[in-house]
Amino acid sequence: MGKNSMRAAVFHGPNNISVQEVPFECKPATLKVNACAVCGYDARVFRNGHRKVSPPVILGHELCGEIQNDVSVQGRIIKAGARVAVCPLIPCLGCAYCQSGQYNLCMNLKEIGSTLDGGFAQYVVVPDQITKIGGLVPVPDTLSDEEAALLEPLACCLNSFSRLAPAAKSDSIVIIGDGPMGLLHVQLFKKLTRARVAVVGKISSRMEKARSMGADAAFAYNDSDIDVTTREVQDFAGAAGASIAVVSTSSPAALEFATKIVGKNSKINIFAGMPSGQVFPLDANWLHYNQVSITGAFSSTPAMLQEAARIAAEKIVDLSRIVTHRYSLAEIEKAMATTEKYYGLRAVVNDFQ
Ligand SMILES: [Zn+2]
Ligand SMILES: [Zn+2]
Repeated sequence: MGKNSMRAAVFHGPNNISVQEVPFECKPATLKVNACAVCGYDARVFRNGHRKVSPPVILGHELCGEIQNDVSVQGRIIKAGARVAVCPLIPCLGCAYCQSGQYNLCMNLKEIGSTLDGGFAQYVVVPDQITKIGGLVPVPDTLSDEEAALLEPLACCLNSFSRLAPAAKSDSIVIIGDGPMGLLHVQLFKKLTRARVAVVGKISSRMEKARSMGADAAFAYNDSDIDVTTREVQDFAGAAGASIAVVSTSSPAALEFATKIVGKNSKINIFAGMPSGQVFPLDANWLHYNQVSITGAFSSTPAMLQEAARIAAEKIVDLSRIVTHRYSLAEIEKAMATTEKYYGLRAVVNDFQ
């Protein structure tokens, strides 16, 4: 090694990102980045900043890289040159949640690509906490670098799925949101349950894709007359109503919509982050008499990342269909713009020269 600088896209503040040489020291768990996907979170931070993010910092938390020196992960050696996916969570390992393995709920959580330098760079240094919790997961040979970069978002969808399953054949499931995460939910529920699955979205090309990924129905979310969409989805779900609704969009109205389409004993999962301070009026008796559960799901754990690698390698979920745009590091602003304009699904940075 001995390399003491690298190229990176450094976030300096809202609308200010520059591709530059930065000092860099190759520590024991260092990865050469092969691919890093652009999350909606990255695009929002780039435009608006975020309370968690103190610039200058390198964004990017959905990444696949090559181990530079042999590293021991929970007693197992991963050899130099091996490809890994990364659980970007840096837990404190001391709080009650960490002690029960719920690292995503750590009370002192830090994250690669948010509070620490992330994957829009030639190299990423992985903190010890990540190797300690098994957060470096070897990538199966059947997965490309860009697919491997999407194992982290898939793991987040598995967290959501684990809070909602099991679903029966008679169940109808409604995914609200036609973005990459919504479509990963479609694939998961179609492959891992026998229930019927509908997606509700705004972009026709994405809804087309949802159908080709197995969605039984796709409904346009009609902002100007939401009652129309509500009736269509109610028809799909039948008299009993939907048994599961996943809110996979940052629109607060989607949560209210979910309450209109679910039935008794149903679950609503708030998968997406909302604009902060969002409150939502709820009829307590409606919850009580209908036995409705409203849950959240945030991020994922290393165990979920391992599970994601397994089901992606077996093509239970096809991650290659989620990657639609590819950019070099120098084109990082274009990649951000593609993401915020909802072009395609995921944009991936895969050229760091
Ligand atoms: Zn993400
Ligand atoms: Zn903790």
